[in-house]
Amino acid sequence: MSLRPDEISALLKQQIERYEAQTTVSEVGTVLQVGDGIARVWGLERAMAGELLAFPGDVYGMVLNLEEDNIGCVLLGPYSHIKEGDEVRSTGRIVEVPVGDALIGRVVNPVGEPLDGKGKILTDSFRPVEFKAPGVIYRRPVNRPLQTGIKAIDSMIPIGRGQRELIIGDRQTGKTALVVDTIINQKGQDVICIYVAIGQKASTVAGIINKLEETGAMDYTIIVSATASDPAPLLYLAPYAGCAMGEYFMYEKHRDVLVVYDDLSKHAAAYRELSLLLRRPPGREAFPGDIFYLHSRLLERAACLNEQMGGGTLTAIPIIETQAGDVAAYIPTNVISITDGQIYLEPDLFYAGIRPAINVGISVSRVGGNAQIRAMRQVAGRLRLDLAQYRELAAFAQFGSELDRVTQARLARGERMTELLKQGQYEPMPVEEQVAVIYTGVNGFLDDLPVEAVKRFEREFLAFLRSNYPDVLRSIREAKEIKEEVARRLDQAIKEFKQTFTHAAA
Ligand code: ATP
Ligand code: MG
Repeated sequence: MSLRPDEISALLKQQIERYEAQTTVSEVGTVLQVGDGIARVWGLERAMAGELLAFPGDVYGMVLNLEEDNIGCVLLGPYSHIKEGDEVRSTGRIVEVPVGDALIGRVVNPVGEPLDGKGKILTDSFRPVEFKAPGVIYRRPVNRPLQTGIKAIDSMIPIGRGQRELIIGDRQTGKTALVVDTIINQKGQDVICIYVAIGQKASTVAGIINKLEETGAMDYTIIVSATASDPAPLLYLAPYAGCAMGEYFMYEKHRDVLVVYDDLSKHAAAYRELSLLLRRPPGREAFPGDIFYLHSRLLERAACLNEQMGGGTLTAIPIIETQAGDVAAYIPTNVISITDGQIYLEPDLFYAGIRPAINVGISVSRVGGNAQIRAMRQVAGRLRLDLAQYRELAAFAQFGSELDRVTQARLARGERMTELLKQGQYEPMPVEEQVAVIYTGVNGFLDDLPVEAVKRFEREFLAFLRSNYPDVLRSIREAKEIKEEVARRLDQAIKEFKQTFTHAAA
């Protein structure tokens, strides 16, 4: 018997409908073994990698291992009540997190549950925690700055919106301080910030939340927190959850987003723990071989979308903690190779009082330079040169040999520039003020001051400029460059101020 075309299409339609019906029926499996936050489940033949499984007592798990006769799954909640033989249901969904405006100002865990006691998060949008990074044809070059408010970074290691910049250094060198200041500095810059705390002490995270609330930064910030006392699966999930929340604002609202991962060393350690428990083969430093792929997939999701995609950027600042400055260890080298630049922090500088303790000699930003405003480029080129010459000469000068005048002048300049780049915590500086103070340094106006007076000069000069020459600051801010007449006004302002300043110092 032959079928007419419309009969064939009717049959096909029927089959398609039935197929839908089959997949929505949830499969049921059985717990074979449970412990250490891991469950082995038998009988869920159609489970997908990354799928959410429902365990008794509203606990969810995420499928990580698909083996021949069972699946390995990490549990995303308290699991002490789960026993062998318990029922497990597949949900057919990949792990997702709630996203949307409702999350702004909130502190959540990596599955999107509130931790701040401010009630339920009312949103009906969700996004998968794993999402394919946009391909190169959907991107455009980074061309707008993300001002950190930190002089040493904005002038010499500038970060652009959509870039990935790594902050790397030993413990207690001021890594977190840099990103907290950067978040504070985004006030009024139309950037949504997401701070992902991975494996930190709960007290540290509480301190950061307090600071952000105090400075009003929580108005545009989301905190995703998985502290050191949380189970490893949550630590593992945290950066993806933060990234997914950021992607919502980038893809759907075309906004600029900054996501900070503090820190990925602890993320790698959590993933190592999970992998060893899942009996995956250990590789270098006992990390599973796919840790590189894991981090590159995460950081590749940072992007600067083109017009066709409607614009929007996601800037990623991962943090890596090194052990005794060993940047050649496995995880540091991986993340260095994935990012577009690194900011190195050093304990020696930190203890010498050079804070932020950035080693500007080896720190780089491979794309941010294009995004820097012209005014900053006008002053910063000389700054880099002054500091490089200073570093070279300072090593020799230690021998106390006779120095010629030129060398002495370079040393003096370098010392003053180093002093000028020091910056306290929670004091991010607007870019036009940064330009103005760096201008005084690179043009030699500080050379005749004692080094100890530089910080006071900076502070008082800025106050003077704000009240007596507001037009200069406004012009730099708006024109984004130092026009000729503005440079003249600035010179005049500096000279005028220096007269009063030397009087005060005497
Ligand atoms: P950890 O490895 O514990 O995460 P970290 O590298 O993130 O440490 P922070 O916690 O940011 O370092 O800073 C360490 C200490 O240094 C803190 O007490 C902080 O207040 C201080 N600090 C950081 N930056 C500065 C600065 N620019 N000026 C003065 N003090 C600073
Ligand atoms: Mg820290």
